Amino acid sequence: MAKNDFYETLGVSRTADEKELKSAFRKMAMKYHPDKNPGDATAEIRFKEVNEAYEVLKDPQKRAAYDRYGHAAFEHGGMGGGGMGGGGFGAGGFSDIFEDIFGEMMGGGRQRRSSGGRERGADLRYNMEISLEEAFTGKTAQIRVPTSITCDVCAGSGAKPGTKPQTCSTCQGAGRVRAAQGFFSIERTCPTCQGRGTTIPDPCTKCHGHGRVTEERSLSVNIPQGIEDGTRIRLAGEGEAGVRGGPAGDLYIFLSVKPHEIFQRDGADLHCSVPISMTTAALGGTFDVSTLDGTKSRVTVPEGTQNGRQFRLKGKGMPVLRSSQVGDLYIQIMIETPQKLTKRQRELLKEFEEISSKDNNPESTGFFARMKEFFEG
Ligand SMILES: [Zn+2]
Ligand SMILES: [Zn+2]
Repeated sequence: MAKNDFYETLGVSRTADEKELKSAFRKMAMKYHPDKNPGDATAEIRFKEVNEAYEVLKDPQKRAAYDRYGHAAFEHGGMGGGGMGGGGFGAGGFSDIFEDIFGEMMGGGRQRRSSGGRERGADLRYNMEISLEEAFTGKTAQIRVPTSITCDVCAGSGAKPGTKPQTCSTCQGAGRVRAAQGFFSIERTCPTCQGRGTTIPDPCTKCHGHGRVTEERSLSVNIPQGIEDGTRIRLAGEGEAGVRGGPAGDLYIFLSVKPHEIFQRDGADLHCSVPISMTTAALGGTFDVSTLDGTKSRVTVPEGTQNGRQFRLKGKGMPVLRSSQVGDLYIQIMIETPQKLTKRQRELLKEFEEISSKDNNPESTGFFARMKEFFEG
């Protein structure tokens, strides 16, 4: 079907400015408004055309495209298709005062009806916190999710088995009613049926006519080995049931891994600070580290170990997600200086100091020598 020229439809010249367009649109919209022309199909078509023309011409980008390519710019697949699809009435396609009045009527209402009242169920979010040990081993978690599901007694119709929903007498099944307000009449969701177009004279006793019931469902969720803090697991179709036969939403598990008392995680590697005594550091020694796999690893500290020295325990870190690789565990040595010395200990340390040589502390000897040289030449 050939379309009328948008400028002609609004009765303006091709050079009309924004103000002229707006004023022409208001005039035409009032002239052809369905409430001023009840039952007049031609006026209804004109009204749609006026809206469609203004929708394009008020937008400088769309107007430029229209000036260049004509209606072809807005055919299916062309630019600006989003706002113009489905007969030229997109949600939010009106500006200024018209938005308030027509917005709901032309946008939401129509779209909802065109999909037959079917609505996708809401997505659900479930926050789960696991320990580092659980992230290490992986687990199957049983979770309970409160969710609304389709009522099994009435299969979602809301009507008592053996009865049927009836066409709403307030709106005659349209789901919308009109009320006059000033110049215009405003279409609103029918208060009797809440837009469904039907009422349920004999409601299902289990769901009280809602067609959905809230239940706690038990789900088992597989938490794979090596999962990281902040991971999101999507369980398709495990969210809320859809409305009137619509598809169910998804369930998202937001996973957080609790900080560990002993180990700090860095990807697949683990880090751990281990304090050892000054004498162990000086004389050498061993200590055992418990690891997440349930075993112990022995760390040998050689004689003369310095503070901050790192030891790597290969393969004692975290498993890498969906891989056979395992990270490492890094042990960092912290040397603890003895405190609360007894008289005897103090004597021994003094004696030790007296017989110490420069070779016992090459770092500090070297440092102070360098400092002296730098500042005193
Ligand atoms: Zn029911
Ligand atoms: Zn109704």
